[in-house]
Amino acid sequence: MMESLSGLCSAIVRCRECDLHFSRKKAVCGTGPKDASMMIVGEAPGSAEDEAGIPFVGRSGKLLNEVLASLKVSRSEIYITNSVRCRPKVGQAPKINEVRTCSRYLKEEISIVSPRLVVPMGNSALFALGFVLDKKFEKISEVAGKLMDCGMFFVFPQFHPAAILRNPKRREYFVENFQKAVWLLRDIQSMPRLEIARKYRALSI
Ligand code: SF4
Repeated sequence: MMESLSGLCSAIVRCRECDLHFSRKKAVCGTGPKDASMMIVGEAPGSAEDEAGIPFVGRSGKLLNEVLASLKVSRSEIYITNSVRCRPKVGQAPKINEVRTCSRYLKEEISIVSPRLVVPMGNSALFALGFVLDKKFEKISEVAGKLMDCGMFFVFPQFHPAAILRNPKRREYFVENFQKAVWLLRDIQSMPRLEIARKYRALSI
C-alpha cells in the first residue's frame, strides 16, 4: 500500500498494467485534499483530461463545476478521481478488465483519503467501487440517488455528467442528487451513523 497521494500518482504515471496505457497521452491522477470528506469517482479521462493530466476539465467537468458552484460547494473541497486513469480509444468506455485492473489505485486512494461519502458517477465507477469493496452493484439507472451504507463509508451513486450532457432532461435530477449529497455530508459529520441510515433510508451493502 502507498502512503501518500504523490507516491500513488508517481506509480500511476508509470503504470502499464492494462492496454489503456497505449492510448493515453497523460495518465490522470486524482486531485483534491488528502482529508476530503467526499470523494467523487468518474469514468475515464476524455481528450481534455488526457491533454492536461487533470480529471474533469472537459465538458463533463464544466457541468460538474457549475452544479457544485450552484450548491455553494467548492470543487477544491472534494477529492475527484476516475475508474481508469488512462484515456480509452475515442468513443469507447473502459472494458471491465481494465476497470478491475485500475481499481487497485482507487482502493489506495480510498485508504489514504478515508472519505465519509463516496459518489460513484456512472456504471464504470460503480464497477470500480464494486471491485474495491468486493460487492456487485446494480446498474446506475437502478441505484442513482439511493444511499448505501458499506460500513467504512456511505456510497451515494449518481449519473455521470456525460450522461446528462447526452440527455439534458435528467439535469434537474442530477442537481437534486448533488444537493442531497451535500446535505448528507453535513449530516454525516454531525449525526450518528444509525440516524443517518434511518433518515436517508440507507441500504446496507
Ligand atoms: S488505466 Fe490504470 S491500470 Fe491501465 S495502464 Fe492506466 S493506470 Fe495502469
